[in-house]
Amino acid sequence: MIDKTCKQCHQKFVVEDDDLAFYKKISPTFAGKTFEIPPPTLCPECRLIRRMNWRNERKFYKNECSICKREIISVYSPDKKPKALCKDCFWSDKWNQHESERNYDINRSFFEQFDDLLHSTYLLTLFATNCENSEFVNQEMNSSNCYLCTGGNDNRNCFHCNSCIHGNDMTDCFGVGYSDKVHNSVFSVGCFDSQYLFNCHMCNDCLFCNDCVGCNSCFSSTNLRYKKYYFFNEELKKEEYLKRVKEYTDSYEGVMRAQAMSKKNKLRYPFKYVTVISCQGDCTGDIMLNSKDVKDSYYCYKTENARYVYMIDSMKEIMDALSIGRGELIYEGASSTKLYNSAFMTSCDSVRNSYYCYNCTNSNDLFGCVSLNRKKYCILNKQYSEEEYKIKVARIIEQMSKQGEWGEFFPTAISPFCYNESNAFEHFPIKKDKAKRLDLKWQDKDYSTKNAGPYYKPKDIKEYDIEYNPDANDEIEKCIKGIIKCEVSGKPFKIIPRELAQYIENKLQIPRKHPDVRYKERLDMFNKMNLYHRQCMCEETEHGHSSRCPNEFETTYAPDRPEKVYCESCYQKAVI
Ligand SMILES: [Zn+2]
Ligand SMILES: [Zn+2]
Ligand SMILES: [Zn+2]
Ligand SMILES: [Zn+2]
Repeated sequence: MIDKTCKQCHQKFVVEDDDLAFYKKISPTFAGKTFEIPPPTLCPECRLIRRMNWRNERKFYKNECSICKREIISVYSPDKKPKALCKDCFWSDKWNQHESERNYDINRSFFEQFDDLLHSTYLLTLFATNCENSEFVNQEMNSSNCYLCTGGNDNRNCFHCNSCIHGNDMTDCFGVGYSDKVHNSVFSVGCFDSQYLFNCHMCNDCLFCNDCVGCNSCFSSTNLRYKKYYFFNEELKKEEYLKRVKEYTDSYEGVMRAQAMSKKNKLRYPFKYVTVISCQGDCTGDIMLNSKDVKDSYYCYKTENARYVYMIDSMKEIMDALSIGRGELIYEGASSTKLYNSAFMTSCDSVRNSYYCYNCTNSNDLFGCVSLNRKKYCILNKQYSEEEYKIKVARIIEQMSKQGEWGEFFPTAISPFCYNESNAFEHFPIKKDKAKRLDLKWQDKDYSTKNAGPYYKPKDIKEYDIEYNPDANDEIEKCIKGIIKCEVSGKPFKIIPRELAQYIENKLQIPRKHPDVRYKERLDMFNKMNLYHRQCMCEETEHGHSSRCPNEFETTYAPDRPEKVYCESCYQKAVI
């Protein structure tokens, strides 16, 4: 075990023996010599923020393809130096992958040379792998007919969803998996035909529910198991239930009222200290499903032997990672899929045995490369023989070690994104003056659309139903052509025809808040990635503990939060 002080925030942190064993295991061998990855110099949180700085998930700009000059939507703002390409040009032979190659200069910093390469080669405008008919998706894989979805995979016909997997016909969800027709929901799995769920599993036709399992037709209820026709946690007759629900769902105003009431109402019920479902071994953190031995991690699915990871799906042997799926043996990686035995990688797909790469695909044995596809044995995009590659990489790592670069993820200073464009800003928001003080890049330019009025105000969804309103078709026309002014931020936004069709078909109220505001509201629904040591708050006398339950645990619920937080055993006794 080693005690360290973070060189950025100066907080103390501990590198455990297990961590050191992992660094050893992942350390590569080149030309007969093993290059040990040194213990980190930043604390886990500063490392997470550094990785997040390299991920712009949702801030899109109108830009121009550097080859065909077509207008494109891009994660790179027009004032940035990287040369973005539309996906047709990027995946074509209109450019040569080696045209920006360079010789490694042993007298210069590695990161400086990588930065030069990053700004001279072409980059893909948005990261979408194997997506069909889904123009504005980013960091998304195997999805089709999706619109403005990010960070997910295998979704069909979804709108404004983030970090969702295997979803069909969903809108405005975050971290929802294996679900159909679920809307405005967060961290729920295997649900159908439902809206405004939080942390629900296998629920059908439920609205505004929290921590419910296997329920059918329940409304604004918390901690229910296999219940039907529950309304604010009370059982009703079917007819009465349907009548009461309709009073809320019939209008936009009713839905907003139900949302506000549910938010208050759920505080009357206990919360479990963590959501760790079907996990084995030693797991700490929160929101984990089907995982084993995952420590200090959040939002993991099917993950094994991991530490300090966030938004991970189907991974083994992984440490310090952000939004990675389907791979093994990864250290300090972000925004990638199918990586194997690699470290310090970001925005790559199907790459093995590689280090310090950005935007590379279907390759192996790369070092410090950008935008390469189907290559091996390249350094700074230059091709070498296998033997030359190994000798050269060994020399580069030796030099990087002397300069304190080996073992560090890409520095924030050379990220193609400003702090306020990146994932870091969403999870660790700071003000501009603080960013300037910390020497972080800041996007000052406002590229948003101006003076969009006159505005269209959406009506209640029944007004778009021809059986209720004879002028429904006119209303549909007006809505599609119109620009809506966000009722919170004032920012203009549009509803596209496919999206409106989904609202009408599922009787969902048309949003009146900008997608950014809705996204922020979903982010605010879950706890931040911090653990607090707390005591169970249960004082129920029939649980067998005299006075307050003595059980202690690590939880993401900060001590000043309003929720009643229970240990596993008290929580199980409290659910009905
Ligand atoms: Zn730190
Ligand atoms: Zn193009
Ligand atoms: Zn307890
Ligand atoms: Zn108790």
